[in-house]
Amino acid sequence: MHSGDTSTPAERLRLIDKYFLAPGGGGPRAERTARATEPAAALRLDVYDHLRGSVDEATELAKSLCDGAEPYEPRPAKLEDTYRWLVEETSHLDQRRQMARDAVIYRQGLQHAILMGDADIICRHPCPDCVTWGLVWDRHREQVVCRNHHCADDDGRPTTWTLKQLAEDHIARKNHLVARAT
Ligand SMILES: [Zn+2]
Repeated sequence: MHSGDTSTPAERLRLIDKYFLAPGGGGPRAERTARATEPAAALRLDVYDHLRGSVDEATELAKSLCDGAEPYEPRPAKLEDTYRWLVEETSHLDQRRQMARDAVIYRQGLQHAILMGDADIICRHPCPDCVTWGLVWDRHREQVVCRNHHCADDDGRPTTWTLKQLAEDHIARKNHLVARAT
């Protein structure tokens, strides 16, 4: 499935909503689903849950980062505007909270990419521990695995990461880089 330029979490959210939730309309697909192909139905529900879960999490995050205060603006109707709204709602907060927000947005972006079949995005991050480029996505265990043998524990078990950990590491590195460049 070709997804074009999917470089931002917001763009991925838009593409998932547009192409993955109800691709090509529901007619023939719905018929097939009714007959036997339950995976198709399950996938579509997965996508729906994914979208709803992402937006709900962003909404809750805006509130919790602002200590429960009601948002200045209601959440926009367009899904792809969710992150812009979340950033605007929390742009007055200290750096620690803004980094926590950015890590959630980034982690959602990774989840979007994986859902869209672009798990290779994981390889484009250094391992948070050994800082080499050997990360892969284990789709069965739903975790990130470092293939560097030197990174494994004493029993040879590879180091693993959650998407949350990978996103937090990415945002931390990004902020250090920004700090160093200025
Ligand atoms: Zn490693």
